[in-house]
Amino acid sequence: MRKYIVMGAQGSGKGTQAKLLAEAFDLVHICVGDILRWNIQHHTKLGARAKRSVTAGELVPDELVSEVVRTRLEQHDWNYGFVLDGFPRDRTQAEFFLESYDIDAVILLEVPDMVVLDRVLSRRLCANCGLDFNLIHHRPVRPDTCDVCGGKLVTRPDDTLQAVRDRLADYHRQTLPILELFRRKELVVVADGTRPESQVQAEIRQSLGLSSPIPA
Ligand code: AMP
Repeated sequence: MRKYIVMGAQGSGKGTQAKLLAEAFDLVHICVGDILRWNIQHHTKLGARAKRSVTAGELVPDELVSEVVRTRLEQHDWNYGFVLDGFPRDRTQAEFFLESYDIDAVILLEVPDMVVLDRVLSRRLCANCGLDFNLIHHRPVRPDTCDVCGGKLVTRPDDTLQAVRDRLADYHRQTLPILELFRRKELVVVADGTRPESQVQAEIRQSLGLSSPIPA
């Protein structure tokens, strides 16, 4: 059983690295932002409660996200473990999590703020299938069109310059300090998130001592 948390500013590649790790080692990838966006898109009660904060790029109240994570983990479909992406993001969430679950490592993706701004402002999302594109590193073949399903590429409503700046400030003020809780337990591994995706993934696996995926 492997239980990991991936931390990093928005645009640091958290989602990509969590997904690669989860696919290779048969772990469940739990992305809190995706769960919230799904609920907003499908007009659920939870979506209605989260919408204002998500659209403004602000953190959703702790009770709400903690509930999302608890409910998701209670599904117990994670036979080989999970990779949690985007949670915890502040001290209350970290304490809630550590009370209920033990983890094997926190993976911190380090990316300078300027790179974060560049990356996030060039991020596009397929409105139909949710696939991520980036106008710098992962351009679609046809402008504004998803390579996979042909859907329209849109900017996330929370990816405006002001919202990105606010989220970066929240990250420095609220999220980075909680690393101390995990550092005390010697759980933190750091990877340079500015390198190409495959190299970042290799560095993470090496730090975690994961040399080869679980055989099928
Ligand atoms: P992300 O896709 O990780 O950038 O998350 C998108 C948005 O979802 C954030 O800007 C927040 O509004 C909300 N969100 C995601 N994870 C959390 C969390 N752990 N705590 C509070 N809000 C969150």
